[in-house]
Amino acid sequence: MSMWRCSVCGLIYEGEEAPDVCPKCGAGKDKFEKVAEDKETLINRSRFSNGLHMELYGMMTKIVELAQKGIDDNLDPACVKIFNEEKEAALMFQRKIMAELQTHMNKSKWG
Ligand SMILES: [Zn+2]
Repeated sequence: MSMWRCSVCGLIYEGEEAPDVCPKCGAGKDKFEKVAEDKETLINRSRFSNGLHMELYGMMTKIVELAQKGIDDNLDPACVKIFNEEKEAALMFQRKIMAELQTHMNKSKWG
């Protein structure tokens, strides 16, 4: 399978041949260019890494939810302190993940 890039909108299409029309912007087949093999590898690696970030982002959401339950339960100050720290750490990682993914998209590494 090869990768084809729409020169109009940047969409990456995977297939034996370029599509007749770009599914994103409607440009014709002649507007597609084959993605070089080294670039293809980079795109695949970025997708893998982005997938890991998204999975971890979901786990952080779970951490925030669990920590919030602990905060609401309010057993004693020591417990609540830890729950607050866990919540803050998870939110911080989520902000970092979003910033990094934004960087990838700006660099058009995101297929
Ligand atoms: Zn396009």
